[in-house]
Amino acid sequence: QAKQEGGNQYQFFTMEINETISRKMTLETGLRKAAALGEIEIYYQPQVVIGTGDVKSFEALVRWNHRELGVVSPLDFIPLAEETKLIIPLGKWILHKACTQFKAWLDEGHDLCHISVNISAVQFDDPGFVDSVKQVLNETGLEPRYLDLELTESVVQNPQTAIPFMHELKAMGIKISLDDFGTGYSSLNYLKDFPLDTLKIDKSFIQTIHQSPKDMAVVDTIIHMALNLNLNVIAEGVETPSQLDYLVSRKCHQYQGYLCSAPVPHDQISTRFFQPVKGAPLT
Ligand code: C2E
Ligand code: MG
Ligand code: MG
Ligand code: MG
Repeated sequence: QAKQEGGNQYQFFTMEINETISRKMTLETGLRKAAALGEIEIYYQPQVVIGTGDVKSFEALVRWNHRELGVVSPLDFIPLAEETKLIIPLGKWILHKACTQFKAWLDEGHDLCHISVNISAVQFDDPGFVDSVKQVLNETGLEPRYLDLELTESVVQNPQTAIPFMHELKAMGIKISLDDFGTGYSSLNYLKDFPLDTLKIDKSFIQTIHQSPKDMAVVDTIIHMALNLNLNVIAEGVETPSQLDYLVSRKCHQYQGYLCSAPVPHDQISTRFFQPVKGAPLT
């Protein structure tokens, strides 16, 4: 009896492993053709200027709607895309799409600041990265000053190549943000050595602001440091008015979060966030 149960358990365990492997294979095969099949879409989350409430910038966040599996989170497929290096062509596709869609809003006459696009460390490590950015800007006609690249501290596994790349991008007029700040290592060195425009405080810090005085002190200190370094500072994951009140009191520049809006599809942006263009006929 016991032996049989053990056998079943073993069989169950094997099945689970097989399922995991087969899901991974399904995802990997699916990912190779996802963009061509029209399953990949970009959602946009507003970056709100604290104080004025202006929305002139957005972060592009990729979404994959698999025809059988449904919505697959980027937290699941981005790591897989990195592992298989598929992130290089996929990332370029995402950049191209985001630049094209942002350019369309500019061409409609909206007064906008920039589009932020997440770049994985694997993309950034690729020697062809800067050229691929140039190519995308040429093809889409988007001026470099409208593009902001979000990098995480993990890009700096390789600071000797990462820092010159950053300077090259900056020289083109592209902006650079450090994403998920506070979750990586040796953050202070990066702040000193990277040519950054913006620091994004990771949402894990924002979400615990009101849980303890220490959490609050950490956020306070990060904002203070960013202001002293002359960096633009954005708080991620703001969900409640009291979190926002605190950020206002600390003079944080901008925020992103469900309090304003979750990421939404391209076609919902203009009705929700754009003023009618000056001089446009009233409808
Ligand atoms: P991230 O770049 O730090 O993006 C912020 C994440 O927080 C997004 O999750 C966003 O939907 C979520 N978020 C925004 N506001 C709130 C809030 O108020 N509360 C909570 N709980 N969450 C909020 P998402 O879209 O699932 O993306 C997860 C991560 O996947 C991103 O983190 C980024 O690292 C990666 N990712 C997403 N799109 C891309 C992409 O196009 N390329 C690359 N390389 N990575 C991407
Ligand atoms: Mg980001
Ligand atoms: Mg990120
Ligand atoms: Mg982040």
